[in-house]
Amino acid sequence: MQTIRGFRDILPETIRLWQKVEKEATQLFEAFGFSEIRIPILEKTELFARSIGEATDIVEKEMYTFEDRKGDKLTLRPEATASIVRSYVQHKMYASDPVRKFFMTGPMFRRERPQKGRYRQFYQIDAEVFGIDSPYIDSQLIFILHELFMRLGLTGLFAHINSLGCPGCRPAYQKALLEFLESKKETLCENCLRRMDKNPLRILDCKVIECKGALVDAPSTLDHLCPACTDHFETVKRTLENQGVDFIVDKTLVRGLDYYTRTAWEIQTTTLGAQSAVAGGGRYDKLVAELGGPPTPAIGFAIGFDRLVEVLEQIEAPLEKPLDLFIVSLGETAVEKAYLWSCELNRNNVRTELDFRGKSMKALMKRADKLKARYVLISGENELAQNTVLLRNMATTEQVSLKLDHLVLDLIRIIKK
Ligand code: ATP
Ligand code: MG
Repeated sequence: MQTIRGFRDILPETIRLWQKVEKEATQLFEAFGFSEIRIPILEKTELFARSIGEATDIVEKEMYTFEDRKGDKLTLRPEATASIVRSYVQHKMYASDPVRKFFMTGPMFRRERPQKGRYRQFYQIDAEVFGIDSPYIDSQLIFILHELFMRLGLTGLFAHINSLGCPGCRPAYQKALLEFLESKKETLCENCLRRMDKNPLRILDCKVIECKGALVDAPSTLDHLCPACTDHFETVKRTLENQGVDFIVDKTLVRGLDYYTRTAWEIQTTTLGAQSAVAGGGRYDKLVAELGGPPTPAIGFAIGFDRLVEVLEQIEAPLEKPLDLFIVSLGETAVEKAYLWSCELNRNNVRTELDFRGKSMKALMKRADKLKARYVLISGENELAQNTVLLRNMATTEQVSLKLDHLVLDLIRIIKK
């Protein structure tokens, strides 16, 4: 049996990096006042269709959607924002305090073409802020990403930022865009032509080379922002500059989800080839109301956890976690005693192993080497007869004889030194 295409096991060898990222991210989020939230993996299809948008790649072709036994249409979550907004509205969180900050980590599902950095089950670290429309929050979220990547020792990352405007400036922009698209009709792919009526903005994230070429000179949202959106964006940029966060204004960045307003961004790396986006985010000031809550500004981002780990793998040597102690126990009595000692040591955070397979002294010493044990405890019939064991420091090859009375305490003292 094999995993399904685009799904993969994350094996113990790389888990250390996943844990490291999660630990750093959690610490950072907590310091910035975020609380962890956990949301279901399965939601009603309608939630994603309505929030992400009917004419987006995710909703049109990437969702894992099925009917359950009662015929309800359900979808494995392709992203977290929609569910977190649902939760905010469902629990009327706005009533007691509209300002909320959440983070979460977990698997997402999109049926895309699998390749390096692109999986059908992948993981995101997600953060969302509700109830604040100030541009300082936009800068702060980008700053948090910048800080996290610094703490992880990553360089060569760039924030690409853009402003998508608000419903006030959108119609004028849409008109200019449509006029431009009309002039390019000959070159655009069928999918783009279909989207011209439904959702022209989405044409800007078409991946077809010919379309990309035709769209180079497409009008930019930045040229159509209303004064309030312009001010907002100016403050975001100024604040990032003041904080020393590297960014470039990328007027082609529109992001593949319909709910974005104003600031949108992507963090890109030069080291991952085609799948260069390690995080993406943006403001979505209309979504809470669209999903039945009171008008509430909101903003968030998602980090591509798998891709982040792939970048880290390029710069971090795998860390070997050496064993503290290996017990070479020869004979049934010795094994029984060794088992009890090892449990006691493990309970006290001394990483101890023994082998139960009745192997020879030579084979057991080999195993101790393989496990990179710092110490080896030798407990054979002879030693036990004298109420002693031998402890060998593998680095110095020094050996000491230890009495069985207080053995565990002595071992803890020596090994933890
Ligand atoms: P891309 O342009 O690479 O398809 P996206 O815009 O679809 O990314 P978002 O929905 O913004 O991605 O998700 C945020 C992050 O999640 C991305 O920047 C990326 O790092 C990661 N991500 C998205 N899809 C996948 C996937 N199929 N496999 C692995 N990581 C992914
Ligand atoms: Mg995508």
